[in-house]
Amino acid sequence: MARVVNTSLLSNIKRHGKGSALDVSACFNCGNCTAVCPLAEETAGFPRRVIRMAQVGMEPELLASEELWRCYACGECTRTCPRQADPAEFMAAARSYAISRYDFTGLAGLVNRSIFGNLLVFAVFSLVFELLLSAKMNPAGPQAPLFRFLPGWWIHDVGVGLFAVVGLSAAFGMISMFARFRAERVHHGSAPPLAALPGAVVSGVLDALLHTRFRQCDAAEQAAAPPTEPLVLRPWFVHVSVMGGFLAMLLATTLDYLLKPIGSPAPPWYPMRLLGAAGGLVCLYGLTVMLLRRIRAKEVPWRKSAFADWFFPSLLAATVLTGLATETAVYLPLGRIGHTIFFVHVVLAMDLIAMLPLTKFAHVLYRTLALVLYSWRRAPVAVTAADAEA
Ligand code: SF4
Ligand code: SF4
Repeated sequence: MARVVNTSLLSNIKRHGKGSALDVSACFNCGNCTAVCPLAEETAGFPRRVIRMAQVGMEPELLASEELWRCYACGECTRTCPRQADPAEFMAAARSYAISRYDFTGLAGLVNRSIFGNLLVFAVFSLVFELLLSAKMNPAGPQAPLFRFLPGWWIHDVGVGLFAVVGLSAAFGMISMFARFRAERVHHGSAPPLAALPGAVVSGVLDALLHTRFRQCDAAEQAAAPPTEPLVLRPWFVHVSVMGGFLAMLLATTLDYLLKPIGSPAPPWYPMRLLGAAGGLVCLYGLTVMLLRRIRAKEVPWRKSAFADWFFPSLLAATVLTGLATETAVYLPLGRIGHTIFFVHVVLAMDLIAMLPLTKFAHVLYRTLALVLYSWRRAPVAVTAADAEA
């Protein structure tokens, strides 16, 4: 069957990177990047094959490729590219482009292509949440408990509506990626068996949670060159800190909601409170290292940053900081300052969730799915009697 090529594919991807700073068209397919990529051993041509897809306009293949998401942006390929084509940055820009194409609302394209679009979507979401939350705000005195000033049941109700909308949007994006992957495999006659999918789900989710492949990537780098930075500064450790800290905060909030009435008082040593605070500090540590590397802009892959590279970690850091300050305001008589911190924290937390399918936060969805698809693709295909005879 004839396939249509998208002649604008490469220029569209460039608009998701650092514009003219991304010059992957200089790539002449030498294969150096494939030779040095720590993750390329099982997939001949990774990342060169994905670059080639973009150069010749193979959009369906590129959007169906789980390889895009298995790249951990270590920058090894960029360091050794003889043409300064910056393959690591190309992979990052292609992921940003894919997020925009999987999203059916069109908002992800706006957020990822321009600073103005990103800030506009953020401002509109913030305004909506401010108005919604203000609707039930009590004109309480300055010493009123936080959950009397802003009722816990109302935060819960708005949150449930938000999760429903974001859940649908995220599910649509993941189904879109899955369907493209499946269609491509069927087209090439290499569709993995459906029976192998449950096992692949378990393996892919475990890989995402434990950062197995990211650690392999780091180990290969450390073996190639003497270690130059301590464990606590290595990219996979920093990434695990952000993800682990975030999951701890999510678990603490969920258990707090399930185990005690919303907004009821609890002592500072209450286990969920300690878990949330510890998770917040660990997450903040990872985010600080990430942002400082971008500010220093000394090494690949932090040398060049698009606005989207700053936006998500900054929004997450602001949410965690105001969350920790809110925890303090529960016990200290901060008056109206405490109320304001709490209000800002709830709005930022809702912004963070609302923008999950649109920002770099979406990596958590698509990278996990890609690891599932990768595991599924490698599942052994059952050989029928007819196949064996042929
Ligand atoms: S990106 Fe660079 S290293 Fe990779 S194939 Fe192209 S020119 Fe070679
Ligand atoms: S950035 Fe690292 S993981 Fe990604 S393609 Fe380049 S070498 Fe491979």
